[in-house]
Amino acid sequence: MTELDIKTLQALDAAHHLHPFNDNAALAKKGTRILTRGEGCYVWDALGNKLLDAFAGLWCVNVGYGRKELGAVAAKQMTELAYYNSFFQCTTGPTVRLAAKLAELTPGDLNHAFFTNSGSEANDTILRMVRHFWAVQDQPQKKIVIGRHNGYHGSTVAGASLGGMKGMHAQGGLPIPDIVHIDPPFWFADGGDLSPEEYGLVAARRLEAKILELGPDKVAAFIGEPIMGAIGVYIPPHSYWPEIERICRKYDVLLIADEVICGFGRTGEWFAGQYFGFQADIMPIAKGLSSGYIPIGAVMFNDRVAKVLAEQGGELAHGYTYSGHPVCAAVALENIRILEDEKIVERCKTDTGPYLAKRWQELADHPLVGESRIAGMVGALELVPKKSERKFFDERGKVGVMCRDFALKRGLILRATYDSMLLSPPLIISFDQIDELADKTRGALDDTA
Ligand code: PLP
Repeated sequence: MTELDIKTLQALDAAHHLHPFNDNAALAKKGTRILTRGEGCYVWDALGNKLLDAFAGLWCVNVGYGRKELGAVAAKQMTELAYYNSFFQCTTGPTVRLAAKLAELTPGDLNHAFFTNSGSEANDTILRMVRHFWAVQDQPQKKIVIGRHNGYHGSTVAGASLGGMKGMHAQGGLPIPDIVHIDPPFWFADGGDLSPEEYGLVAARRLEAKILELGPDKVAAFIGEPIMGAIGVYIPPHSYWPEIERICRKYDVLLIADEVICGFGRTGEWFAGQYFGFQADIMPIAKGLSSGYIPIGAVMFNDRVAKVLAEQGGELAHGYTYSGHPVCAAVALENIRILEDEKIVERCKTDTGPYLAKRWQELADHPLVGESRIAGMVGALELVPKKSERKFFDERGKVGVMCRDFALKRGLILRATYDSMLLSPPLIISFDQIDELADKTRGALDDTA
């Protein structure tokens, strides 16, 4: 692409394209970066810069870029049957095969799938599903869903309400009624003198306190990301999730684990529930389901929920034109085949994952780094003003953006949330690429310090 082509595209972008999660006026002045190509763990921009993508697009390109098999499967399905819906007592082969494959792959008795186009739509679906679940069992008052401050569950009205991002709530009058939030588990900022494991129990018991305050007969479900991604990769202590599960069982509150980021190998297990040792009743998935090659998400739910919905639920008054789209389903199936055949999740657990963890943890010795956290292939560096104190910068985010920009100059895509530098590379990353990633991150930290 010539400089003129790039300038033309940037001008058209500024004039006609509103970017998600961006200050669009500032972006128009700066000029958008245009990406043109991807191969393995690298993407190229229109200027020809080769960038190591330590963020897998947006936590999604688990099998890496440029997989011809996925394109071939999409082309074949488009030629055979590009579209049919699952509405009017119909469906397609890939849709059903994907539902069955997901039932086999997901833990416990999450044997049922409802298809969506995204993680946000999955969480919208879940809000209606859990309220309907209790209502048809003569408990319409059991409708409050508890989420967590700073949680992220998508951008639709229900998704953003279930999430706990203040900036999102401020636009559009959210959250919608009967959604409340408790504090998330973040030992670095909140753990005080407790050990992480002691703190994990304390943080989980906030859920119990909230259920008792509201009344267990009013609480339909609890939703959380096993690892809170968007806010800065908060990895809870191992004591947290089993205690959350115990509390949910005690008060008969449905447990929703939002595996949109963690699912499909990110933690070195297929799902983070397996990493932390707990079992969800309902599980939204997206992103790694197709490695981001095509939009698709799903709600996986267990036999209990399925039985109630089937026997008492009546007609499900909910669905999307593209629920279970055959092309998306075919691509997702092929993506899962690649993950399985190439043993990508296993490699991430026993081979490249531990090496990435070692190299990432070594960065904790840098003067700017207050904490290095990682689980499988998702992690963060917490940049701090004073290494000896677990405290944030007064002006949060400025240093993180500097570090992100220095990384980019060195040919590395890292994302910053405030001053947390986030890590989520394609799961196929090699040992050499891990070295490149760690060396460039250290270089960016040096540039920033
Ligand atoms: N849930 C979690 C945990 C996410 O991280 C995201 C997106 O980042 C979503 C839901 C929303 O997914 P989507 O952007 O596909 O709507």
